[in-house]
Amino acid sequence: MEIENLAKSDLNSGYFCYDCLYFIEDNDCAIVRQQGPDVNGKESGTIAPHGICTLWTPDEKKAH
Ligand code: SF4
Repeated sequence: MEIENLAKSDLNSGYFCYDCLYFIEDNDCAIVRQQGPDVNGKESGTIAPHGICTLWTPDEKKAH
């Protein structure tokens, strides 16, 4: 899901797609599709850096 209020958050700290092992710069994911609604029924057509899902896995290469 994507929470609009978190779009301007510090993406280097927190459980965001940006810090996830599966995130592909700048708006894709290796395992979650861009198309289709999220749990809130919202369709953005993208994997936003400030998004999150239950498969989140920390990317140790990124600073936390
Ligand atoms: S949190 Fe989920 S949607 Fe986001 S990059 Fe990770 S696996 Fe993909």
